[in-house]
Amino acid sequence: MRILTYSKALYSTWLYYSADRILFDAGEGASSILGNKTFAIKRIFLSHGHADHTAGLLSIVNIRNNAMGDKEKKLTIYYPKGNSLISEMITFLARTNRHLNYILEWVPLTAGDTVELLLGQLPRYVETFPTVHVHNEVSLGYNIVEVRHRLKRNLVGLSQEEIVKLVQKEGKQGITETYHQRLFSYGGDSVAIKPAYIQNTEILCHDTTFLDEQDRKAYKHATLAEAIATARAACVEKELICFHISSRYKEKAREIAEASGRYSELEFKVILVPPGRIFSIA
Ligand SMILES: [Zn+2]
Ligand SMILES: [Zn+2]
Repeated sequence: MRILTYSKALYSTWLYYSADRILFDAGEGASSILGNKTFAIKRIFLSHGHADHTAGLLSIVNIRNNAMGDKEKKLTIYYPKGNSLISEMITFLARTNRHLNYILEWVPLTAGDTVELLLGQLPRYVETFPTVHVHNEVSLGYNIVEVRHRLKRNLVGLSQEEIVKLVQKEGKQGITETYHQRLFSYGGDSVAIKPAYIQNTEILCHDTTFLDEQDRKAYKHATLAEAIATARAACVEKELICFHISSRYKEKAREIAEASGRYSELEFKVILVPPGRIFSIA
């Protein structure tokens, strides 16, 4: 399981990205469904402060202090700087959890900030980008990025022999270049994300509250058509995860998901997260 998620617009949204032990948003029910995995979470990234994305924090913070598991493990929660709802939540959690066994760290972020995840051969980090949701509340999206190495573009096509010669002459560094590969992009609640922020990501998780444009009364969320258009413009490489689907489309979302071949002309797979169901992506 790479991803475990629950997402139903207005009710609850959270997504656990197991490779980096990150929980994106923390809607109600997250800890009861994650169970012992609640202790595996290293970091939580909040996209914004609406209750359907933060209500689960109360129990996560509490469970990590009281259930069976490593009660001393630090938990870091990142959030959009200046978000007033989250500021209230921080105060409330501090007042109601005066005796935590572990360090609970809150880190405010602004668009363009980066957070180091992993050092080593293939370092990883999170980069933030701005999203557009509601006018009076700042919101953020997050990319998980891996720093990789590849053969310099101008050397592609050389024979093995020529490459070996070059390595002897210039060393391995002389023939390789580093590049930054976006592995996963989490948009949270947002209208269509600007493609430049998520360009060439492997997996995009995009707001798809509305399957039909005519159901959208206010411009705060995206439609399925917009999510697909954004993924195409951003040249998403592997998967588009459509989440935050309104529960009014319970049946329709299932029908679309089952109509295999519906989006077969696209370069990436379209996955609809069924509203109201625990959903895992292998
Ligand atoms: Zn929401
Ligand atoms: Zn929201």
